[in-house]
Amino acid sequence: MRLAALREQVLEANLALARSGLAPATFGNASGVDRAAGLVAIKPSGVSYERLTAAMLVLTDLDGVVVEGELRPSSDLPTHLALYRAWPAIGGVAHAHSEYATTWAQAGWPIPCLGTTHADHYPGPVPITAWLTEAAIAAGYERETGAAIVQALEGMDPAEVPGALVRGHGPFCWGAHALAAAEEAVALERIARLAYQTLQLEAAARPLERALHEKHFRRKHGPSAYYGQP
Ligand SMILES: [Zn+2]
Repeated sequence: MRLAALREQVLEANLALARSGLAPATFGNASGVDRAAGLVAIKPSGVSYERLTAAMLVLTDLDGVVVEGELRPSSDLPTHLALYRAWPAIGGVAHAHSEYATTWAQAGWPIPCLGTTHADHYPGPVPITAWLTEAAIAAGYERETGAAIVQALEGMDPAEVPGALVRGHGPFCWGAHALAAAEEAVALERIARLAYQTLQLEAAARPLERALHEKHFRRKHGPSAYYGQP
């Protein structure tokens, strides 16, 4: 991908987070990676979405060394980089403090799959990380947050599980590119909200039956997918 196109797409992903109300004030950030160039474009730290332009995005290598940009990158950059390094198949990461997903993260619960909206996006519950240890927080808080996410996904395919909750913090989502990651952040907020409301109305609501869950997930993922247009 040309770097100008990467910048435009990452800008669009950040604006999508802001437009959907997922990232109030400056909470939240999206990034994208150009694998061939080995470069990541990410939102600069503390810049409001109204002021954000493609030229303001910061380009770094996969070790976080700034290659282009006048501004400091988002402080969550090391979390994004940890995910890019661990998972070569992903091309974008989005983070928000969206209300319902963050509520689940704070409660410390993985989100159970109570309906097909969830099953369309996740093959199981939305995973949640362990608490970071004091040592991990001291050693490199943002990088260790990424490591905790990778750990929470152990045994899962990040191409099939597009997000996780960081315990006590909020959701991180990813996808094939920055916009896909932002779209997953929007979907996760909807899933989190529906699950919360379902359990309010019916505390004994049960997870979706496996066959129905599988049916919905496999309509959209993997070799037998048939949802949408070819
Ligand atoms: Zn955050």
